[in-house]
Amino acid sequence: MRVRFAPSPTGQLHVGNARTALFNWLLARGSGGTFVLRIEDTDVERSTPESERAILEDLRWLGLDWDEGVEKGGEHGPYRQSERLHVYRAHAVELLSRGQAYRCFCPPEQLEMDRYGALRQGLPPKYVGRCRTIPEREARARAERGEPAVIRFRVPEGRDVVFGDVVRGEVRFSSDVIGDPVLIRSDGTPAYNYAVVVDDALMGITHVIRGEDHLSNTPRQLLLYEAFGWPPPLFAHVSLVLGPDHGVLSKRHGATSVAEFRARGYLPEALANYLALLGWSPGDGEELLPIDELARRFRLEHVGRSAGVFDVEKLAWVNRHYLKLAAPERLARLAVPYLQREGWVGEPSDAGLAFLARAVPPAAGSVDRLEQLPDRLRFLFDYSATRALDDETIRAEAESARQVIGGLAEELTGSAPLLDRETFRAVVMRLRDRTGLKGRPLLHPIRLVLTGEAEGLELDAAVPAIELGALLGGEGGVRRIPSAAERAVTFRAALNG
Ligand code: GLU
Repeated sequence: MRVRFAPSPTGQLHVGNARTALFNWLLARGSGGTFVLRIEDTDVERSTPESERAILEDLRWLGLDWDEGVEKGGEHGPYRQSERLHVYRAHAVELLSRGQAYRCFCPPEQLEMDRYGALRQGLPPKYVGRCRTIPEREARARAERGEPAVIRFRVPEGRDVVFGDVVRGEVRFSSDVIGDPVLIRSDGTPAYNYAVVVDDALMGITHVIRGEDHLSNTPRQLLLYEAFGWPPPLFAHVSLVLGPDHGVLSKRHGATSVAEFRARGYLPEALANYLALLGWSPGDGEELLPIDELARRFRLEHVGRSAGVFDVEKLAWVNRHYLKLAAPERLARLAVPYLQREGWVGEPSDAGLAFLARAVPPAAGSVDRLEQLPDRLRFLFDYSATRALDDETIRAEAESARQVIGGLAEELTGSAPLLDRETFRAVVMRLRDRTGLKGRPLLHPIRLVLTGEAEGLELDAAVPAIELGALLGGEGGVRRIPSAAERAVTFRAALNG
């Protein structure tokens, strides 16, 4: 089995296309097949090297490695269409010589008028066939004299094109609605429908899995396979990814590209897992599975026909699952750009990262995506007793908890840092004995004092993070973090002052 993903480098990688790439990858990996990556950059005006680079990076980030293709090589290269123009020309000449293609000299304005005329009569706007009957010798002579010409495919008349699509079942088109498509434009570049056939055939592609938007291109492509005498691949057209309003997922729905989801702090394994579930299910009610397991279970025949509606809530659920599984060191590294944006960290040293590996995971366990981390970690890097007490509710609560607050400041002054849960709990116990309070009346004031916030992470995790951060003393690429003792003293002073 040989499958391919063939993006056009004309922008960011859309999640719909990423899902197409993923389905190809899952199929290849699940069946020992080969996954080929081809770049379809014959739209010279819209293709850019930056877009190509970004798409490759996004695929790698998602974990979709390819066995053959750009930057990898292989026996069927080159894998960039702009480097294969000679191949397309040679094969077009073959069709010309057999009369299965012909040169067309119709100027663009003429074609535009034809189109307009057909539309006005309510007819499908297909090429009228004006140049179909120019004798080959005359056409060649005109082309040799420099008259601009395209090469068109001579679509056989009165034919039904029928094929079995793995996802959509039997699909039937009449060749009569297909105008003779352009194979090679007058500038020598191939048209998509032609290049894709030449490439898929010469690259030995056995299964073409792509978006449903290409369904109507398939009959033209099948007729080309037939003209060349090549066996066609199996086709599977997967439904498009839709937004909540059932329109194709686009900018107006929010994030659409893999790069945007990445920037918001979705983990690659979460996005890949979620995209796999869009239109397919691993069965047994299981949904959260690592990509290798998804590949093991993936069956193209089980991909549903109905469109996949992108569900951000579900993606968040999947992401939370993987955030909880992620290694602390990884989360620490991933958090850095978000914390840098707040000015809280610079380039953290090993010690700085070790601190983040303690501080970030409890916060990461309570967010949908990494970009929400700063909100959960503000208590560490941006503590201010006065700002906390500017909040009326906090002030009122603090006023009525002076006993706890004073006691806490006394307990912490001169004591060892509360680097673990046990040490922190021992202080809570002593305060309980001192005040006779327990539960929320005891713990809530402690939270207000130590975090400056009325809610947040579990104190068992937050307090050791504060103390570890304070030990860095502003070194290690991490902004200075006041210790628990310092917080208790400043808070008491602010309350009394
Ligand atoms: N370059 C085409 C696209 O990005 C590929 C279509 C295909 O897979 O045949 O839509």
